[in-house]
Amino acid sequence: MIAGLIVSAVLVAQAPSPAATPTPVVVDVVISAGHEGRPESCPRFPRHKCNLGAPGERQWTPVVADAATRILRAHGITVARLPADFDGTYDVGAAVFIHFDGNDTPCSTGASIGYHRESDKPAAAAWHAIYARYFPYAFMPDDFTTNLRDYYGFRQVRAADGALVIELGEVTCPRERAWLAPRLEWEGALIAYYLSQRIGKGEVPDPGPFLK
Ligand SMILES: [Zn+2]
Repeated sequence: MIAGLIVSAVLVAQAPSPAATPTPVVVDVVISAGHEGRPESCPRFPRHKCNLGAPGERQWTPVVADAATRILRAHGITVARLPADFDGTYDVGAAVFIHFDGNDTPCSTGASIGYHRESDKPAAAAWHAIYARYFPYAFMPDDFTTNLRDYYGFRQVRAADGALVIELGEVTCPRERAWLAPRLEWEGALIAYYLSQRIGKGEVPDPGPFLK
């Protein structure tokens, strides 16, 4: 009896962590807020660089991600709303990892898009076309850094049509920061529209220009 209890305790202790679970979660879209949950999550993910983002980025990405998620869910689209570090894998129509850029030389970058697979180029071009209608500053070339091309989160999603890192502007650039600050919820609405179009579900309306 006692021996049996000890064996059970050992087995429980050796049970695989959720990270080892091979079954992917199936949802319409993944929306991850860049740097969200750090630094608290860093010890559990020692293979990730514990990057805390540009100043203020960690506060802003969840606002955008939550706005997009709320709108998508209201239109019947299933969303896995994830922080920066997460367990498991996801089988989705599309995935976006939301970021803002920062640079030691202010106003030297701008908005950008990252993706690992050449087949995600059309998804990137579609987001670029939507965002460039409104974003009045520079767009960097796709994958202009290796962090964009080889983003760690790509390993945990299998997206039918687009797994993208989207950087919404450079927060270390005062004029871009001032432009972005009142628009975070609107950015979320634009992303919701984009994702709905991309996966052909939900008919989320185009929010149009920011009006407030
Ligand atoms: Zn970032």
